Amino acid sequence: MTAVPVFDYGEQYRSIATEIGDAMTQVLTSGQLVLGPQVARFEKSFASYLGEGVSCAGVNSGTDALVVLLMAMGIGPGHEVITVSNTAVPTVSAIRLAGATPVFCDVDPRTALMDLGQLEQHITPSTRAVIAVHLFGNMVDIPALRRLLGDRSIRIIEDCAQSHGARLNGQMAGTLGDASAFSFYPTKNLGAYGDGGLCASHDEKLIAECKKVRMYGFEQTYCSVREGLNSRLDELQAAVLNVKLPHLADWVNRRREIATWYDESLPGQLQRMVPNQGVDHAYHLYVVRSSQRDRLRAALSSMGVGTGIHYPHPIHRMPGYEWMGMGEGSLPVTEMLAREVLSLPMYPELGRERAQLVIDAVNRAVSELS
Ligand SMILES: *Cc1c(COP(=O)(O)O)cnc(C)c1O
Repeated sequence: MTAVPVFDYGEQYRSIATEIGDAMTQVLTSGQLVLGPQVARFEKSFASYLGEGVSCAGVNSGTDALVVLLMAMGIGPGHEVITVSNTAVPTVSAIRLAGATPVFCDVDPRTALMDLGQLEQHITPSTRAVIAVHLFGNMVDIPALRRLLGDRSIRIIEDCAQSHGARLNGQMAGTLGDASAFSFYPTKNLGAYGDGGLCASHDEKLIAECKKVRMYGFEQTYCSVREGLNSRLDELQAAVLNVKLPHLADWVNRRREIATWYDESLPGQLQRMVPNQGVDHAYHLYVVRSSQRDRLRAALSSMGVGTGIHYPHPIHRMPGYEWMGMGEGSLPVTEMLAREVLSLPMYPELGRERAQLVIDAVNRAVSELS
């Protein structure tokens, strides 16, 4: 029996079930099912959540948010986009879907984020963008990245699929680069009950372009002013997100509280991922590192504690990405992390009692293994 699953959305749903039901009924009786008032309202609310002067375009997923941004920026075939292999596959799928070529930079072992010290060697005349992935809810130092890129015309896109609510020196994740992509996949810090995503930027024109791209390139119906695709956010998911958004700040704070308990009470010999300087971590995931990861995971499982691995296979070593020709050892830190990382249960409703079960189980497992 799993006493503490690694993720559980049931408790949160029960706490807002009536509001969700009402919002869904309202959509179903309105007769408007895609790109209607719920989407418009959510785009506005999420923009104000992010901060002043931000514009947003709702799309069908986090993957699509990246694709739509790249297309709206005119980045495609013949262009290179630098990112990391230590991310969720969709970061890379998006670059390929836009027709561009992914280039991988290795990560920093302390943070699991892009190692900015290694960035320069990957920049070529074809580089058009860097997708900085704010993995686990931690954040890449975007101002430092900007300084490194200097006056080269290379765009910075923040992949915020795991960092809703994170801040760097008080500024929200998703407002520091040229644009940002959010996912509302059910497990994310803000999750729909299906797929959803969003493009955000201070550049209003870029977001206007995203709104064309997401609907076949239409400005007005039935005439494409550019090429696009179908990536609409539907009204039912937007209605869910409108109900949930007012809770997001509280939910992220509860994640931070759980992280504090873990920080204080997990065994000292277990390595933690370190928040970057100045970052208010959003704790989408709480990740530790162990050279005996698989044994630790099995021990926890036998004690009823579910865990996850984010991620067990570096993208450049997956069969689907063999064509990149990147052998074993080409990104040593990324490959080491794939062997050592372990994600502990983390969701706002976890609560003190279950967190304590996790803490006790990890302490017992670590002392038995050493
Ligand atoms: C979830 C995720 C995405 C993609 O989001 P989808 O909505 O599943 O398409 C992109 N990047 C990262 C880092 C993610 O975790």
